[in-house]
Amino acid sequence: MTARRQVVLFLHLMKATAKQRFHFVRRKVNLDMLARLGMMPGDAKDRGMALTPRDYVRGSDQDRNYPQRDVWVVGLRATDALPLPGDRTTRQQGGAAMSTTFCPACMKDADVRIEGRRETLPVRGEDIEVEARVAVCSTCGEDIWLDELEGETLARAFAEYRRRRRLLQPDEMARIRRRWGLGQRAFALLLGWGEVTLHRYESGSLQDAAHDAQLRMAERPENIRTLLEAHGERLTPRQRAAVERRLGEAAALAAKCEGGDEDFERLLARRAEGGFGGHAPLSLAKVRETIAYFAARPGMFVTKLAKLMFYADFLHYREHATSITGLAYAHAPQGPIPERYERLRDDASESAVVEVEERCGDDWSSEVLVARRPANLCVFSETELTVLRAVEKPLGAKTSRRLSEMSHSEAAWTTTSMGERIPYAAATSLSLMPLGSSPA
Ligand SMILES: [Zn+2]
Repeated sequence: MTARRQVVLFLHLMKATAKQRFHFVRRKVNLDMLARLGMMPGDAKDRGMALTPRDYVRGSDQDRNYPQRDVWVVGLRATDALPLPGDRTTRQQGGAAMSTTFCPACMKDADVRIEGRRETLPVRGEDIEVEARVAVCSTCGEDIWLDELEGETLARAFAEYRRRRRLLQPDEMARIRRRWGLGQRAFALLLGWGEVTLHRYESGSLQDAAHDAQLRMAERPENIRTLLEAHGERLTPRQRAAVERRLGEAAALAAKCEGGDEDFERLLARRAEGGFGGHAPLSLAKVRETIAYFAARPGMFVTKLAKLMFYADFLHYREHATSITGLAYAHAPQGPIPERYERLRDDASESAVVEVEERCGDDWSSEVLVARRPANLCVFSETELTVLRAVEKPLGAKTSRRLSEMSHSEAAWTTTSMGERIPYAAATSLSLMPLGSSPA
């Protein structure tokens, strides 16, 4: 009989160690197990870190393969997110073994070589053959579990499984969610799912067919309307407002017969009339390349990008009496943002300029834009390039928060109120140094 105290102690030690290293020994057995469950390695580890003494099943026993080590068996309980395959119980046993050594067989750091191999994975019980890259210990010849490689193999097998079953791929799920302006957690709540369910799916874990069908339904505005009535109270007022705004836009677009870029460009241009676009013709091409240019810097949060765009357009206006992109900006809580900013971000993502990645902590989630290609600088004039560089270097290095604070001291923000458009005339008092001068 193992005392509860020992179980608690084991879990403490396991989690402390797992922060450094977390190895799956017996590579193929565990790969098959994850394939059967439709789970990515990161997902399995998150669940491992969330284990509690209530999940204890058995142990400690002596390991048959490595007699000097102990084996603990803990179970993951089934959740709505992942119906377990099989038959009899709601508990799935899975041994997670820990090692502080790199090659679990040698019990020490060892050189590895990477082998290409064809492997068959039992994805949800259906055999799928994929190319796999496998790390092999040069000392003992055993296969070694490497998260990146196994994740890559699983992702390939899951993608093929989704193709065969006509299920949505992770990027398609993300596109549907972004259409409604919500983060992963909020959208999952709106759908009536567990908070982390969508995060798992978008990170590559395999969705079940019922969830897939629900997501497809969530593409249609009338269904989102129904969900909002049913689960709207789970969202914050701001999130609800974001969805409402998107619903309004969808209705407006539908009324005008949906068009492509041209319609969107015209829509933006109309909004920028009356000098609010900085006396430059609205150019969607310049908007995209500006985004590509700034998103080449790592960790480009959406809020930070908005500020950089503001500074670039307003600085060019101050120096040359026209903006770069022709965009209109509005007063938002964290600083000035381009009007129709969410649509602009979606457009940049849909036209393969950037990848939108979700970052989340315990009580926040935000999006980071990652450039998928270098900016095409040909669309800019000499003066525009000079201004983009003058903004990217010093301001791009600041954190989102610092940049937000800085923008809060600009007349563009202090002389306007929430939601109000910012006149380009405010550029004259911009806190940036005149171009050509450099700080002492
Ligand atoms: Zn070895």
